[in-house]
Amino acid sequence: MQNRCVNMIAHLFNAPLEENEAAVGVGTVGSSEAIMLAGLAFKRKWQNKRKQEGKPYDKPNIVTGANVQVCWEKFARYFEVELKEVKLSEGYYVMDPAKAVELVDENTICVAAILGSTLNGEFEDVKRLNDLLVEKNKETGWDTPIHVDAASGGFIAPFIYPELEWDFRLPLVKSINVSGHKYGLVYAGIGWAIWRSKEDLPEELIFHINYLGADQPTFTLNFSKGSSQVIAQYYQLIRLGYEGYKNVMENCRDNMIVLKEGLEKMGRFNIVSKDDGVPLVAFTLKDPHNFDEFQISDLLRRFGWIVPAYSMPPDAQHITVLRVVIREDFSRTLAERLVADIEKVLHELDSLTAKIKMLSGTSSVTVHEVVKDNGQVVVAKKSALETQREITAIWKKFVLDRKKLNDKMNGVC
Ligand SMILES: *Cc1c(COP(=O)(O)O)cnc(C)c1O
Repeated sequence: MQNRCVNMIAHLFNAPLEENEAAVGVGTVGSSEAIMLAGLAFKRKWQNKRKQEGKPYDKPNIVTGANVQVCWEKFARYFEVELKEVKLSEGYYVMDPAKAVELVDENTICVAAILGSTLNGEFEDVKRLNDLLVEKNKETGWDTPIHVDAASGGFIAPFIYPELEWDFRLPLVKSINVSGHKYGLVYAGIGWAIWRSKEDLPEELIFHINYLGADQPTFTLNFSKGSSQVIAQYYQLIRLGYEGYKNVMENCRDNMIVLKEGLEKMGRFNIVSKDDGVPLVAFTLKDPHNFDEFQISDLLRRFGWIVPAYSMPPDAQHITVLRVVIREDFSRTLAERLVADIEKVLHELDSLTAKIKMLSGTSSVTVHEVVKDNGQVVVAKKSALETQREITAIWKKFVLDRKKLNDKMNGVC
């Protein structure tokens, strides 16, 4: 079943396979393990080539955007590969292909592009990266390859953007990972690593065992594990088929648009996600002066929503975003309810701001200033002691609730 899944996904990603040729790939525990394996294959291939050429092979590096998911940093540290990150900038939250190619040198084992950035769902321009890298390879005589981290996008693009060239149609794309438990529609614990061809996965990394009754090639970092996720993935692929997945993804995109338009209508947010990426909405406050995205996130918990707020990586770390990922079970009704709840939260924060300004007797005090020092008022009029107490009490309700919740969650972890 695992091999059948690998074959179906490899075809979905346009692997150049002959009529009856088996695809090369493996089921993993999520994209993280898949990325470790793909990274290892690149590192080993690069080392072997350098050895053959009689060149040093002790300083491998990998080029990514600063927006990569943490598993790439893990790969780099665990497997001793230097991570060279292309910095982001305000308004541009994915890897710039031109800057990435500039960072490539003879020690680069691969450039990793993301189809569906974790931070704003945007698809990176893999085609442009491929074309620029083809040029650079021609000039330098290197053969730096590309890996595509399609953790989220790998089960979206083939169904709703089939014309988009991001996969094995591009000659330098040698491996791709995808998470079965994201848009693959399986419960947590499954991912896939797919290689373009046998040549891209060094044979020395594969172990062959036959004590289970037949030759079983294995290449994993996780060992004995349950088969339920593979069975579930196989079931979904067969049960839904291409049309089924397409319907689900279109529906997610439609619900994303409903949410996005609801947020736009409020006039208070800038949308930083794209309509043609992962179906999610990432947004920032147009005016974060009086209160910020973290406070919106805190208050939304009271309505039962967990909407993460986070800051962008360098050099866009001054931007904070809220993000809502639309999955299959996030209905249009839920999208409309979330819009209404966000409106309520904004209303609450607006009236809190007004109250604080009134009580402190100055119009320049903001919720931010009041919350500094864990609920101690630092800016309110020194003479109005009563006023200070009142404001502190209002804000403490916010801060302490949040602190308690965080302590509780840390305890659990
Ligand atoms: C989620 C994600 C990962 C990690 O995937 P897991 O399946 O959670 O291990 C890696 N890269 C990107 C872009 C992701 O969105």
